[in-house]
Amino acid sequence: MLDHSNDLTAFDRDHFFHPSTHMGMHARGETPTRVITSAEGCTIVDRNGRESLDAFAGLYCVNVGYGRKEIAEAIAEQARKLPYYHAYVGHGSEPSIRLAKMIVDRAPAGMSRVYFGLSGSDANETNIKLVWYANNILGRPEKKKIISRWRGYHGSGVMTGSLTGLKLFHNAFDLPRAPILHTEAPYYFRRPDRSMSEEQFSQFCADKLEEMILAEGPETVAAMIGEPVLGTGGIVPPPAGYWDKIETVLARYDVMLIADEVVTGFGRLGTMFGSDHYGMKPDLITIAKGLTSAYAPLSGTIVSEKLWNILVRGSDELGPIGHGWTYSAHPLCAAAGVANLDLIDELDLLGNVREVGAHFRSSLEAALGHHRYVGEVRGEGLLAAVEFVADRDDRRFFEPSVKIGPRISAALLERGVIARAMPEGDILGFAPPFCLTRKEADTIVQKTAEAVAAVMAEIS
Ligand code: PMP
Repeated sequence: MLDHSNDLTAFDRDHFFHPSTHMGMHARGETPTRVITSAEGCTIVDRNGRESLDAFAGLYCVNVGYGRKEIAEAIAEQARKLPYYHAYVGHGSEPSIRLAKMIVDRAPAGMSRVYFGLSGSDANETNIKLVWYANNILGRPEKKKIISRWRGYHGSGVMTGSLTGLKLFHNAFDLPRAPILHTEAPYYFRRPDRSMSEEQFSQFCADKLEEMILAEGPETVAAMIGEPVLGTGGIVPPPAGYWDKIETVLARYDVMLIADEVVTGFGRLGTMFGSDHYGMKPDLITIAKGLTSAYAPLSGTIVSEKLWNILVRGSDELGPIGHGWTYSAHPLCAAAGVANLDLIDELDLLGNVREVGAHFRSSLEAALGHHRYVGEVRGEGLLAAVEFVADRDDRRFFEPSVKIGPRISAALLERGVIARAMPEGDILGFAPPFCLTRKEADTIVQKTAEAVAAVMAEIS
């Protein structure tokens, strides 16, 4: 047996089963192990002292930025006072109750209760179960199908992986499972007919949804789930009029709307919720990442008053709800959430998202929008993407073997900036922390342009 006592890299390769990682390559040492040891603001530092500007805020989650002592202290103080107590049978801790109230105060009108979980995936599991529970209570047990969208991302569990509309998350796991269906993605850049206006394409998507509901039978369709802006599926803001037209169809067939705001919740678009930004009126909202800025794992399902009233009737018939997690409303995570939401307000981070976000996106457009291999620069708030094409006219994809996205993100990392090659298509995504300065935004844009030029020179 080799003695690895001083070799973190070897421990990692031999024992750490990493998520979303090429297992064989990593175990064989063909991919780097990068151990991150500290961070401040928008900059992370690894074990070798190498700094990188994190233009993806971890996994679009460290929204207030790294190194916020206020959150660290709130967690430490709560750990000293009460590290854990469960939330079953009406129990609670001070921060979890305060946090529920703070969330509802910030949520769109009509929302009234928060069910806490630990991850975006488990919160979406809760959503599915609450929708099914409600329809059982309403005496329509056959109304259970959930419509999601191609390119949506809603988690990695069995049901939530099914909701996700990306092949990478389906293919090796026999997903999707019934009763989950996928409809058209609101991906205007890749609309079927280039002559369509945004409004026409939105109507096309709404018509497709209606066709699906009618083909399945409206009495079998319970809910639709969607991210206000598609995230992992390519950072795709919806075309004009999209949510309005979709909600008109949903209302016609009494189908609930779940807004998955794991990425957009708590300010990423410059408004507290993406639902506010697009005027959506969801029955349920999924929250996670930005709720604690990832200082501790916490998620939630925000339930509308209308749905809550149905659920309550259920408990009068059925007793306590048979759904709970040991760590629901964990006091340490809730303390992190309270401190995080306070910070967002105190530092006016939403104002910064709007101002620096607009500057960042327009600079990215100016630097790359006309490049011969760039099809589109798009985004909203502090979310942005550059989509690469092999040909600007016919918008052809690069051959997958060229691996254009991963190559550009690797070239960018060499230049000290982290952006993410999105899993489907040739798309480079950006979602920096909300504390991003104009100077940091300019650095990201400049380094991205350099990385694109370097990789394109290799392949041209
Ligand atoms: N929904 C959306 C929109 C997400 O982006 C994610 C995570 N990227 C999830 C759900 C799942 O969250 P988690 O990874 O915490 O389970």
